[in-house]
Amino acid sequence: MAITDKIYVKNHRQIASQLETNIPKGAFSGATLDLLFQGENLAKLDETTQDRVLDFAEDFMDCDCQANPHCGHPEEKFIEYLLELREQGLGPDAIVDVMGDDYMLYAYPGDVLSFLDDSVRTLEAVESLADVDGNEEMARRARNTKQNLVR
Ligand SMILES: [Zn+2]
Repeated sequence: MAITDKIYVKNHRQIASQLETNIPKGAFSGATLDLLFQGENLAKLDETTQDRVLDFAEDFMDCDCQANPHCGHPEEKFIEYLLELREQGLGPDAIVDVMGDDYMLYAYPGDVLSFLDDSVRTLEAVESLADVDGNEEMARRARNTKQNLVR
């Protein structure tokens, strides 16, 4: 399972009661995205929640794909967001706190930790493949990104 399948809506029960309908817990579940972004539903949410939902839409769902929000870009952008927080030196607990403040989302720190470990392993694989291919530029970029993640 991808890390984006393990990102949850923090005040899920409260939102469900404001919408008077059940929504899935997973933030990137298609049904959640569809429900939250129907204008009529958005208007039912309290102001703070609306702000966070709109921030989320602006930051992760701003592509023009016809399939939006089901085109895969929101998930990709969210993964970049997680890696950026890590590059700023944040650990899994702090990353979970920040996503809570920014978007009212949560994840288990253990899941964030395995995601970060997997990312480092992927970069190591990219680096050794690039070395084998003699692709110095790619090897250098993978190495730099990796160093930013593990420091
Ligand atoms: Zn897209």
